[in-house]
Amino acid sequence: MFLCLGCVELLELDLAMWTYNSAKTLEESLSTIEWAIPKENICHKIAVDGGSKDQTFEILKSHGWTVEEAPQKGIPYQANHALGMVDTEFFASFEHDILLSLDWFETTSKTILADASVGCVQGVRLYRGSKTMQAIERWQYDSKLIPRWEFSIDNDLYRTQAVRNAGGFSNECMASADGILRRSMFKKGYKWITDYSLVSGHIRKSFSEQFKHQLRAAELARYTWSSNPETGSRLRRLISMLGGNPRYYPRMAVQTRMLRVPLAWFILRFEKGFYANLPHEGKSVKPVAMDDWYLKEFKKEVLTSTKQIVAPAGNEATARGRSRGDTECRYCGGNASFQYSVPQGWGNILPQVRRGPGRIFFACSEEHAAKIAERVFKRAFEYVIPESPG
Ligand SMILES: [Zn+2]
Repeated sequence: MFLCLGCVELLELDLAMWTYNSAKTLEESLSTIEWAIPKENICHKIAVDGGSKDQTFEILKSHGWTVEEAPQKGIPYQANHALGMVDTEFFASFEHDILLSLDWFETTSKTILADASVGCVQGVRLYRGSKTMQAIERWQYDSKLIPRWEFSIDNDLYRTQAVRNAGGFSNECMASADGILRRSMFKKGYKWITDYSLVSGHIRKSFSEQFKHQLRAAELARYTWSSNPETGSRLRRLISMLGGNPRYYPRMAVQTRMLRVPLAWFILRFEKGFYANLPHEGKSVKPVAMDDWYLKEFKKEVLTSTKQIVAPAGNEATARGRSRGDTECRYCGGNASFQYSVPQGWGNILPQVRRGPGRIFFACSEEHAAKIAERVFKRAFEYVIPESPG
């Protein structure tokens, strides 16, 4: 990959933020943004406020931000208002509780400059503040339970034209401006890349704050995004309501060395699951949108998991607890010589390629393993093909 060294220094961007009674976290958050992005690269700093009654205005002004009042309160309205004021080729959006990673600017700008079809780059963010919340998310991150396609609009660098082409921030669902914009970008042929190695912080002062926040978000949201096409199934919903995979609890307690961590996780999962099980008018579960770039990444991960298997002779296979059908290539039914596994870190995907809950499948060749991976992927996500122009 060739990249002109001067380009990153030349990249000019506007910063956008939407606020509402944000004083509690704003000071800390704005300081990290100042550390992470060199002054020379910043053109405008635009904040759009939804009618704060606390010190939000004063704090923003003291950090050199222009503050506009939103015509209407709500993330999509405020974000679009900010978008309308952006006059640079690139812009960034942050939320009032982000603790931006020091590497954020360098990492995201390199990615967006290297490929003109990248419409958005972002990192992931983990809670900071409450020890319990911090431990839960750290554990999830280390265990690869936070999907690598995780998306948000609180630490993103965009190509302005891409966002405009995709129709800006949709007000279809007050809590899904990110998911809808991401999907619209795929439709227009732009990539939305989440860099899993770029980790920012996300202020959460206490567990109870998270509990309340999660409920508010669930009430506000019309859509829930899921990588699991079977979220509609009763049994899976029940499992999810009861806190998800029971295997995780002892592991979590041992690895974090905090007993309250699995307890807190259980309460949060239960809250989410319980809410999802109540009948709701006009709410729906949507499969996460994916594009070809993610499909290729997924295939790459599946193919590197390969292991040669010894062709079973006679009853040996059954002795090891495998039934005969399991060692057939799941694509062509031929004799399989390789074992693959569906990677962790893509969400709760059920490969459904074999009886039982395992993530393993067999294939006769790399080519057929790739075909199986593609099938699993397209079943778990909404695979978006860009509209042909014109
Ligand atoms: Zn085959």
